Amino acid sequence: MVTTAEPATGLRSTAVRNPGHGESFTDHMIVMDWSEERGWTRPELTGLQNLSIHPAMIGLHYGQVAFEGLKAHRRADGAMGVWRPVDHALRFQRSCRRLAMPELSVDTFVAVIDQLVGVDKDALSDDPSHSIYLRPLMFATDTTLMLGPSRTYRFLLMAFVAGGFFGDSVESVSVYVSHDFSRAFPGGTGDVKIAGNYAPSFLAQRQAEAAGCRQVVWLDARERRYIEEMGGMNLFLVRGDRVITPQLTGTVLPGVTRDTVLTLARRLGYDTSEERISLDDWRAECASGVVTEVFACGTAAVVTPVGRVCDADGDFTIAATRPGPVTLALRKALTDLHHGLAADPNAWLHHCR
Ligand SMILES: *Cc1c(COP(=O)(O)O)cnc(C)c1O
Repeated sequence: MVTTAEPATGLRSTAVRNPGHGESFTDHMIVMDWSEERGWTRPELTGLQNLSIHPAMIGLHYGQVAFEGLKAHRRADGAMGVWRPVDHALRFQRSCRRLAMPELSVDTFVAVIDQLVGVDKDALSDDPSHSIYLRPLMFATDTTLMLGPSRTYRFLLMAFVAGGFFGDSVESVSVYVSHDFSRAFPGGTGDVKIAGNYAPSFLAQRQAEAAGCRQVVWLDARERRYIEEMGGMNLFLVRGDRVITPQLTGTVLPGVTRDTVLTLARRLGYDTSEERISLDDWRAECASGVVTEVFACGTAAVVTPVGRVCDADGDFTIAATRPGPVTLALRKALTDLHHGLAADPNAWLHHCR
C-alpha cells in the first residue's frame, strides 16, 4: 500500500486508511479448542495465520459452522467501545445449540473480544465511519466423514477494519425481490447465524446485481407473499411517524441492530410495530405514499436507506428516494451511541478495559 504524508486530520500512523469491507484484517487472532473430556482450552492469542486442517474435517464437509459479527468503535474520548457484545454472545450460543455444538460462555466471549480489541485497536483510524468488525467463528474439527456431530471444535476470533458497507456515503440502495429462491423455511436455520445460510443466497445475489440492485429481499418460503429480510440485514418501513419491521417468524434473523432500532425509534417518539408485510401491500403503500421511507439495518450496513425495489411484477420507488428524515434520525441516534456521544440507559456500549 502506498501511503502519503500524514494528513491534517490526525490519522494514526498504523491505521488502515481505505479499509473496504472484509479484507483489511488486523494482525492477531484468538484460538480455543473444545473436547468432551476437557471443555474449552484457555484462549491463545496468536498472529493471524493460516490453519492446518485435515481434508476430512467435518466443518468443511457438512457445514457444522456458526459465526457472529459485531463491531468495536473508537469513542469520542479515544477509548474503544464494543456494541452489545452480550447480545451477540447469546445469539452465538443459540446458533451453536441449533447445530449441536458446544456453547461458549458470555464471559469468555466478551473477554476474548476485549483482548483482541486491546491488541489490535491501533489498526483503526480516527475516522468515525470506520470500525473494527469482529468475527467470532466456531467449527467442527473431527476428522471423519461419518454423518454426525463432531466431538471436537475450534473457536476463532479474528477482525478486520471496516469502512462503510455501502461505501462511506448514506445514499439509497436498490433491492431485488427474489421469486426463484428462498433463504429460510419453517423449522430451518434462518433465525440463527450459521455458515450454511449464506452460500445458497449467492446465486440470488448475482441475479440482483445483474438487475442493477445491491441486495436481495427474501420472501417467506411458504406463501411467497410476505417480505422477510435481506441477505445480512433486516428491513424497515416508515409510515409517517410509524416505524415497522417484519415480525420474527422463525425464518427471520433477529438482528441486534433491528432490536436497537425498534428501541431507538420509540425513544425518538415514533410508534413501532412488528407485522407481516406482504409484497403487494408494500408496493401499493409505496405507490400511494403511505410508506414514506424504507431502510435496511445490520451491523455491517448500520442504517442504509432503500430507494428502489426491483420486482418481476414491476419496479417501484419509495417516496423518499433520497434518505428520509426518520432514516437519518435513527442512523444518527445509533452512530452517536456507538461513539459514546449519547446517553446509553441500556448500557449497550461495552467499554473495553
Ligand atoms: C447478521 C444478519 C442480520 C443483521 O443482524 P445484526 O445483529 O443487526 O448484525 C440480518 N439478517 C441476516 C440474515 C444476518 O445474517
